[in-house]
Amino acid sequence: MKPQPKNQIVTRFPPSPTGYLHVGGARTALFNWLYARQTGGRFVLRIEDTDTKRSTQASTDAIFEALDWLALDWDDGPYFQSQRFEIYREFIERLVDAGHAYYCTCSTERLEAMRRDAMAAGGKPKYDGSCREKGLEKTADAVVRFRAPLVGTTVVADVVKGNIVFQNDELDDFIIARSDGTPTYNFVVVVDDITMGINTIIRGDDHVMNTPKQILLYRALDSSLPVFAHVPMVLGPDRTRLSKRHGAMSVTAYRDMGYLPDAFINYLARLGWSYGDQEFFSRTELIEKFSLENIGRSAGIFDLEKLLALNAAHIQAARPQDLVAPLKPFFKPYGFDIEDGPFIESAIRTLQPRSKTLADMARDALFYLQDAVEFEVAAARKFLKAEAREPLELLMVELRKLSEFTEPGLEDVFKVVMEKTGLKLGKIAQPVRVALTGRTASPGIFEITEIIGKDRVLSRLQAAVDYIKGTEK
Ligand code: GLU
Repeated sequence: MKPQPKNQIVTRFPPSPTGYLHVGGARTALFNWLYARQTGGRFVLRIEDTDTKRSTQASTDAIFEALDWLALDWDDGPYFQSQRFEIYREFIERLVDAGHAYYCTCSTERLEAMRRDAMAAGGKPKYDGSCREKGLEKTADAVVRFRAPLVGTTVVADVVKGNIVFQNDELDDFIIARSDGTPTYNFVVVVDDITMGINTIIRGDDHVMNTPKQILLYRALDSSLPVFAHVPMVLGPDRTRLSKRHGAMSVTAYRDMGYLPDAFINYLARLGWSYGDQEFFSRTELIEKFSLENIGRSAGIFDLEKLLALNAAHIQAARPQDLVAPLKPFFKPYGFDIEDGPFIESAIRTLQPRSKTLADMARDALFYLQDAVEFEVAAARKFLKAEAREPLELLMVELRKLSEFTEPGLEDVFKVVMEKTGLKLGKIAQPVRVALTGRTASPGIFEITEIIGKDRVLSRLQAAVDYIKGTEK
């Protein structure tokens, strides 16, 4: 672990690798990352893989992949709990030696009967403390229990929720190590957070019930408490807990649908945090403006439409050269391998105002890349008709005279054709658009003509004229 300057904020993201990184988890990671970046602090990544039955390497890899896509980098770690058992063992001994924990040999049958009786009486199942004062030694079948206070209260001073008061007599002498020596969840979290110097814990409020137990462990271990911020859950539009029914849950699914990481983190940030009524934030702005105080008290509602609108806004705001790399994979299904350079950047620039996702952009950019376009049937039927032949042929004559294909020159050429045919620009532009793109909607006609370039423009216009001739027979 790196030395920690005094007062430096240290946050963490501790996912359990039992599935992909989902929307809620990514938001937790983001808030911790933003806070660390804003304050010049440290962001620690810890993989909570002590549940060996449910943890998988594939999930760990998927989490790394998602964090990598979101560009949430960490300063310390990744730590793996499965590699820290020696440290946990030492802490268990420390607690037993100090009298904060004790060995318990109550049989499963006895505990089960106690649980049944409590339930039958309508109460909460709770360990009766039978081994608490026995001073038992470590034996093969002994678990280690934490000696929780029997009276008083434990207060979670939460930045988001205010003070949450728990009655200590509701808290159990919970198990911190099983009879096989493996430590339990709340215990390892606290040991890790203490030894990793974590002083700010931002996590989902589904963990708030664990926090009083964790606070008792901090006290028993003579450690100062971190700041806690429990963030309300993310819900679907129907206000039930976010699930597959509401859309893709896995973060990388959004990458594969053509979302930009900066748009996605912008959306995640707004799902539970606000800054006036501002919706669009660049990554830098989020780092600047994020604050624990502005985390909302009510649940964030996941709204795909909003996410899509933000994605469109981020695509529009991006520099074309920054879109080339993320766009590349979206050409694969069409069999195109685009090369970096001014051609693709110009094409991207024309599509930025009209693309909601990178998948849209790739689909709409195909006409730039194809050798010859295929006319959409309805478009050709509507616009590649006999009356379009003359303006198209005239345009070819005029275009051949142009040595340089730039917008002002092209505009002049279209004017000449308008004058000679007496047609308005719209009447000429639509057939040209279908000729050049195969479709009835595209970026501006002059800009696409310029980008497609003289040779290909002329051969496409010729193909359209040939098509018209074919229909005239
Ligand atoms: N591993 C827990 C989870 O994935 C997080 C625990 C914590 O933040 O304290 O939900």
